[in-house]
Amino acid sequence: MTRTSWGNFPRAQQSVRRVDWLSDADLKADGSVLPYAYGRSYGDSCLNDGGTLLDVSGAGRLIGFDPATGVMRAEAGMSLAQLLEFAVPRGFFLPVTPGTKYVSLGGAVANDIHGKNHHRAGTFGRHVQALELLRSDGSRLVCSRTENPELFAATVGGLGLTGLVTWVELSLRPIVSATIDTETIKFANLDDFFEVSAASDSRFEFTVSWVDCAAQGKRLGRGLYMGGNHATEPGPLTASPPPRLAAPFNAPDFALNRWTVTAFNTAYYHKQRERVVRKPAHYEGFFYPLDAVNDWNRIYGARGFLQYQFVLPFAGDTAAIKEIFARIAASKLGSFLAVLKMFGDLPSPGMLSFPLPGVTLALDFPNEGQKTFALLNDLDALIRQGGGRVYPAKDARMSGASFRTFFPNWREFSEYIDPAFSSSFWRRVTADAPAEAVVQAEPQLAGVR
Ligand SMILES: Cc1cc2nc3c(=O)[nH]c(=O)nc-3n(C[C@H](O)[C@H](O)[C@H](O)COP(=O)(O)OP(=O)(O)OC[C@H]3O[C@@H](n4cnc5c(N)ncnc54)[C@H](O)[C@@H]3O)c2cc1C
Repeated sequence: MTRTSWGNFPRAQQSVRRVDWLSDADLKADGSVLPYAYGRSYGDSCLNDGGTLLDVSGAGRLIGFDPATGVMRAEAGMSLAQLLEFAVPRGFFLPVTPGTKYVSLGGAVANDIHGKNHHRAGTFGRHVQALELLRSDGSRLVCSRTENPELFAATVGGLGLTGLVTWVELSLRPIVSATIDTETIKFANLDDFFEVSAASDSRFEFTVSWVDCAAQGKRLGRGLYMGGNHATEPGPLTASPPPRLAAPFNAPDFALNRWTVTAFNTAYYHKQRERVVRKPAHYEGFFYPLDAVNDWNRIYGARGFLQYQFVLPFAGDTAAIKEIFARIAASKLGSFLAVLKMFGDLPSPGMLSFPLPGVTLALDFPNEGQKTFALLNDLDALIRQGGGRVYPAKDARMSGASFRTFFPNWREFSEYIDPAFSSSFWRRVTADAPAEAVVQAEPQLAGVR
């Protein structure tokens, strides 16, 4: 049985054990273990080369739901798609959702994921009331803000390393319709984006922008800003339809190149002629446009691709973000799936949670080997200088030194790692940590959380 991450890079050789009943999960293995659900992480944080993956995707039973409060408890392998099928007809929605619904509750916790409403709702972990953690010593610990709070803070955003999450208790959000009232605003460049965002973010619960990362000069960072609110008029509460299309095979490597990417971006930007378009939409199309095509990651071919997401603190100075956009556009290596958003300032509950207040950009790079890696290393340096960070859930290549700069309390976090658990990502970013630097760093790290 092979298990891959969404970017199909890197590949790992590992044993796979299905864990369909989390109540009697066996965590013993010859080497280390790592939970794995739907493999929607892009890089190697869900891989365990040389070890064992505990595949929990079959363990998604509903445990309890209180319609008066919207609090639901379910096994950690439940996907957000399954959750929505249950909750939407009952008038509830996810408090935070990523750009795909094929993500498990356990995966959402382990990466403390964020969505289009980060500026209003913060990260997923803020809405988790409690969870149960199974450790390799056989202990089962309920963790929340009041019970085992340190282990809760380590597990939320803890990359699956603190133990196996068996169930998650989550507060859902009430809705009266499956419809989202949307507004799309075309922006001409990055300055225009920041103006639109400043003027409009407060009007919308959800905001996200698609950007043309191939545009240069006066058009640098042009794109479409999409705002949305859950409809307030009662309407049908229908859950999502199943996917319509499938990418049937790995596309040949020449399918995505500079010309197809530029042509797509230009056509997409011009598909809206007016500055502003308002229309109602089913939540499926608004939140999960990519889920319409099964296995769309195959269009990048056998070499796979790298997703890169960073956040940069933003206080009005656009020089650093413009420099990053200019480097990406000049490299001609970026793809057509580039997403820009302003994060809000609600604190994240996890020690290693990714979001910071500021501007975040996520985009795909077909894996073109050294060229791609060199560009991303340069971008890392700019992000380090600007006090930002890169998202581990989407990473396959950042250096250990970069990771430890981006997440200075990694050392404190590592004290909560279950000794039987490890991942390809964790070994990669900690292998070269100098022991003496680790010891010296400890006093400075106190209180960072
Ligand atoms: C199209 C697309 C859009 C996306 N959009 C966003 C977005 O908008 N925002 C965002 O934040 N992320 C986004 N992501 C990333 C995705 O949300 C995360 O990588 C998520 O963690 C994947 O969950 P998964 O269930 O597939 O878990 P996997 O990828 O299989 O595993 C992810 C991590 O969770 C751990 N884990 C899984 N189950 C458990 C468990 N039961 N107990 C303990 N640890 C566990 C694993 O060990 C691993 O560290 C997107 C991904 C895709 C493919």
